[in-house]
Amino acid sequence: MKINTKAVHAGDRKKPGRQIPVTTPIYTAASFIAESQEQLDRIFAREEPGYSYSRYENPTTAALVELVTELEGGAGTLACASGMSALQIAILTALTDRRKSVLAATALYGATYRLLWNVLEPLGIESSLVDICDLDAVEQALAKRQPGCVLMETISNPLLRVGEIDRIAALATAAGAALVVDNTFATPLLVRPLELGANVVMHSATKYLSGHGDVLGGLVVADQAHYETLRTLSRTLGPVLGPFEAYLTMRGIKTFPLRMERQCANARRIAAWLREHPKVDRVCYGDDPAHPDAATIERLMPPDLRGAIVSFELKGAARPDVFAFLDRLKLIVRATSLGDVHSMILYPAIASHRDLAPKQRERMGIRDNLVRLSAGIEDASDIIADLEQALAGE
Ligand code: PLP
Repeated sequence: MKINTKAVHAGDRKKPGRQIPVTTPIYTAASFIAESQEQLDRIFAREEPGYSYSRYENPTTAALVELVTELEGGAGTLACASGMSALQIAILTALTDRRKSVLAATALYGATYRLLWNVLEPLGIESSLVDICDLDAVEQALAKRQPGCVLMETISNPLLRVGEIDRIAALATAAGAALVVDNTFATPLLVRPLELGANVVMHSATKYLSGHGDVLGGLVVADQAHYETLRTLSRTLGPVLGPFEAYLTMRGIKTFPLRMERQCANARRIAAWLREHPKVDRVCYGDDPAHPDAATIERLMPPDLRGAIVSFELKGAARPDVFAFLDRLKLIVRATSLGDVHSMILYPAIASHRDLAPKQRERMGIRDNLVRLSAGIEDASDIIADLEQALAGE
């Protein structure tokens, strides 16, 4: 063979031998060679397990998918390039064979609003809003709107509202709608929506599941009735996660329960400290008996795991005061995102909920003095010390 041919073929396509790698390697191959055309035909026909093309299945991504399916208790999972691509596929999965309309919780991540009203509505998929924590309102809206799907977050971003997934699932099923749940803030350690009757669950895997701020990813887990649709959509639309990101996400998930336990414990301590601080107004956290959804939280979440986000208002603060407070922080990272090993803080009015009109934010209860803190795994006393010096304003 001449050098041009050797450069392309030599050394490649070796079987790894008889040893089994302890962790799943990163398979960057776009396509896979079958032993024969007969075998490839059987793989395409799903008569034999195997890989053909990475838009369909990839060994690294398949390992992640199997892991997440186990964690959430679904029939199958799609790993996507971001939480937003996962959300879009989750909604399309739920709406296939149903009326093309969404009944969405009022309390939602800002980009989810953009997806519903700026992308899906112009395509003919209508959306309407309901207070998901008011079961009567949900029942009435289902009867009036007859939506194809109901969309909610397990713990809403950023005000941490918690709806009764099991009862909402029962109402949605009775009305012929699918329930789609964004489980990003809760993670399967706190709540597994499919076990409560939801049909499709999605995650921004960018957050707690990967947990180290180094990967953007999303996951969609479907129940038995929706898995084939999810699979078909994924193979055709191709929003899949790359193998390197799948590897990082899988690596992150191995420690996610440990991190999450620590982050929840830290958040609980921070919330208790903030409640006593004279410069802090409203503190939102799931262990508060005065939380508007305290009974639901008590019923659906483990006693010591109430989430790792604390949202709070700075007393009497206008936007420049909030900026100054955030700029004084030394340890807590001022950045968009949440769920990382390091504590992070975000100002929803200029970040996650920036694109909403001020009146709409106000209606949702997201005031201009609200900040959202994602507790990391550091020592809680160091996080509190940083908040203390920033609140002191020196
Ligand atoms: N859902 C929630 C609750 C989020 O907070 C986010 C991002 O912050 C997303 C979905 C979107 O995820 P991604 O940024 O990975 O696309």
